[in-house]
Amino acid sequence: MAAVLTIDLADVDRYADALNAAAKTIVTGDVVEAREVIGPIAFERWEGRLRYAAKAGSSSDTVERRARDVTDRIRAQVFLRDEMACTYCGGRCIPRNVLVAFSELFPRELPYHPNYRRGAIHPMYWALAPEADHTLAHARGGTGDIANLTTLHTMCNARKSDSLLTELPTVDRPEHVVGWDGLLDAYPSIVALGNSHGRRHAAAGYHRRWLRHFSQESV
Ligand SMILES: [Zn+2]
Repeated sequence: MAAVLTIDLADVDRYADALNAAAKTIVTGDVVEAREVIGPIAFERWEGRLRYAAKAGSSSDTVERRARDVTDRIRAQVFLRDEMACTYCGGRCIPRNVLVAFSELFPRELPYHPNYRRGAIHPMYWALAPEADHTLAHARGGTGDIANLTTLHTMCNARKSDSLLTELPTVDRPEHVVGWDGLLDAYPSIVALGNSHGRRHAAAGYHRRWLRHFSQESV
């Protein structure tokens, strides 16, 4: 196991590239090759200090249940509208449900924890999973309308905390990856292979629900 304490844009690319390559082999059904392809990022554990930024409910809430005024359907539409890129750092995003499918297929190599517990979750969740963040913070009167929501990596969202995005330092944005779909195209194949080879993290119907959210026409 490799303890990871910080994440930067190079890590976003490293994780996205490895998972993109793995997805290409997974759609052919080759789980052995896919395991090899994720080798460079396997067995990493997040041990850093980022805290989840969305308003917490009770301590038993999972990360996914927070920010209650935004539905999963709206989240999916925000991510699609923003072309699966973080509007702060410009890096590629992979939706959490797709990462969970990878974790189900490779539970030891790419561990998942629903509360993002330090030492128990792969840093790819912080680096790649997008949040639908309020542009104008909830506390400053912002609503959960799609127009007030923007796609941010979980790590970028945590760094933003409840300040306005314009108050953050600017970053050198990577070139926009045209046609990046957050691996949604491969998602059904990853889920299917996880069902036959892996271990389930998600409740029954979880992946089916997200597939439906992402297939909705955007508003
Ligand atoms: Zn970002």
